[in-house]
Amino acid sequence: MKVTKKDMIYEGKGKKMWSVAEDENLLVAEFKDDLTAFNGIKKSSEKGKGALNNKISTQLFHLLEKNGIKTDLVETINDTEQVVKKVKIFPLEVIARNIATGSLTKRLGIKDGTVLPFTLVEFCYKDDDLGDPILNDDHALLLGAVKDKNELENLRQTAIKINKILKEFFATKNLKLVDFKIELGKDKDGNILLADEISPDSCRFWDAKTNEKLDKDRFRQSIGNVKVAYEEVLRRILS
Ligand code: 5GP
Repeated sequence: MKVTKKDMIYEGKGKKMWSVAEDENLLVAEFKDDLTAFNGIKKSSEKGKGALNNKISTQLFHLLEKNGIKTDLVETINDTEQVVKKVKIFPLEVIARNIATGSLTKRLGIKDGTVLPFTLVEFCYKDDDLGDPILNDDHALLLGAVKDKNELENLRQTAIKINKILKEFFATKNLKLVDFKIELGKDKDGNILLADEISPDSCRFWDAKTNEKLDKDRFRQSIGNVKVAYEEVLRRILS
């Protein structure tokens, strides 16, 4: 599909969003090579990272669509760009976890690597100034982040469904899906769509046999070979 990028309407840590001359309900999402962690305090760039995330996210969105999840993806048009439906993003990071690590371990003292007895879903408030604080349901309602309890439950169940599809898929690729963050939005007709991306920037993947980390924790923890790990994730997805 041929679209003409008009104005850059938003630049985030991982992506630039452009309006489209031909259709006000579409946007172009451009994946950047920038790497950031700890709320933007640690910064770097890895040439080709944006293209890898674009490829990985495209594959995963297609897999999810095939399994009944509605997404904002219209078409991936080149190495670093996708045409997506315009949505109003809920100001929430929706996190699903299968194995304890990261902030869960720090917050609750659950031993790193503990397999959780059920899919844990958490909501964080998307606000860099506040450091994306974790919210309970009442907080989310109080802040008006969702319309009502039903809508919040809808987001929770969507995350659980996405987790089941992805976890089973990655198990066939010898990868453990440890946890992930997704963003959900509402289109002009009120449909809730998966938006943003699903990539090693927003998920944790551990090798099923060795538990080697194949995600952004390699950058956060200065392990190195970040791009090699992302390439390995893409190779396994395509295998
Ligand atoms: P944690 O809360 O343990 O730091 O992160 C849980 C999961 O959500 C991890 O897979 C992590 O990559 C993802 N995540 C949490 N916050 C963010 C964020 O601000 N941006 C991105 N891209 N991923 C995040």
